[in-house]
Amino acid sequence: MRRAVNQDSLSVVLAESESGWEKFGHLFLVADGMGAHAAGEMASRLAVELIPHQYTKQQQAQPSEALRRALTEANAEIYRRGQANIEFRSMGTTASLLTLLPEGAVLAHVGDSRVYQLHGDHLYQLTFDHSLVWEMQAAGEVTDETARSGVIPKNVITRSLGPNAAVQVDIEGPFPYEVGDRFLLCSDGLSGQINDEEIGALLRVLPPAKAAQIFVDLSNLRGGPDNITAIVVEIIDPLIASHGQQTIYSRREPLDFSKFSTMLGVVTAVCFLAALVFAVIQPPLAVVAGILGLISLATGFVQLLLRREPAQADGSRYGKGPYRQFRATPNLSLFEHLAGTMKALREAAEERKWKIDWTQLDSLFSQARAAADGRDFTTAVRLQSQLIIDLMQQIRTQRRDPASDSAIDL
Ligand code: CA
Repeated sequence: MRRAVNQDSLSVVLAESESGWEKFGHLFLVADGMGAHAAGEMASRLAVELIPHQYTKQQQAQPSEALRRALTEANAEIYRRGQANIEFRSMGTTASLLTLLPEGAVLAHVGDSRVYQLHGDHLYQLTFDHSLVWEMQAAGEVTDETARSGVIPKNVITRSLGPNAAVQVDIEGPFPYEVGDRFLLCSDGLSGQINDEEIGALLRVLPPAKAAQIFVDLSNLRGGPDNITAIVVEIIDPLIASHGQQTIYSRREPLDFSKFSTMLGVVTAVCFLAALVFAVIQPPLAVVAGILGLISLATGFVQLLLRREPAQADGSRYGKGPYRQFRATPNLSLFEHLAGTMKALREAAEERKWKIDWTQLDSLFSQARAAADGRDFTTAVRLQSQLIIDLMQQIRTQRRDPASDSAIDL
């Protein structure tokens, strides 16, 4: 809404064959450029052109190493061009890259664009924001409350591709993924306007194309101060679901029966043996012994469960992600928030006499309201999102129509 140029770039490279997928995976990349005039555009465009090219050039390296090299090479080239031309001096760009490989999702990341994964009813942020506020929080220099308060500007980034000759690249994963999981890659034009709970709920209830559209529309409706880029990926083919068996979300060690308490083991055995003997000579006592045996066995199990170590950072995993997690539940507050946005938009439309066809929108809205009253928030949020998408579409069409006598300035 407020930027004349788009400094964001993106790239999607799907493997063309099974062997290609096994080697390089499917690749998704978002880059958010910064710098004066055309420099930001140039930096992010270079990133999305150079990185996939450099990555698939590395035939011998492991994906994680190939990714690191691809970003490092791209950084060197962007830096070189920045040095060569005064107009592009110190240009920089974020780069968040997701590869879906047989072993899981592996990420390479620099800057404050984000990669999220929706798994079940939770949204995970897989990337660390290389921003001043996140770095200070991680170093324990500010409390979470201060960080949230907005005292530290959110848009100061501490790492990017281009401004310096060298760059440190985060490699994350492999994160397992399953059919039905969704990924979102986005620039801060989106994550700065829509909070994580909303992102999670919308990603969960809407089909990918609709989710991407509502993210862009909502970010614009909330002021759209920055360029907005979103890539939504849904896993639909069981053949490409990662082969990793463990899930990061509830990883726990399996029960180790060799750690079963010796004493309780002996007590259990003696009780059951006694139960067998009493079964012949004293049946009531057999029942008592049997019950005691079961109690002892159950106690042993509870001990095992309690002693089991929670899963710790797996040595075979790069990085420390996921960094944050949220419940992704469509609820009344999200519905009301969307309804409020819609109401404000309607007032603006009426005030400015935009030509909007309200009949269908009104009918959708009553359905959405009825669903919300019936506490079916999935349907309510779905319908309300559709409403906003439809209305924004009508507004965009009108904006493009030179015959329209009401110029629309959103
Ligand atoms: Ca941005």
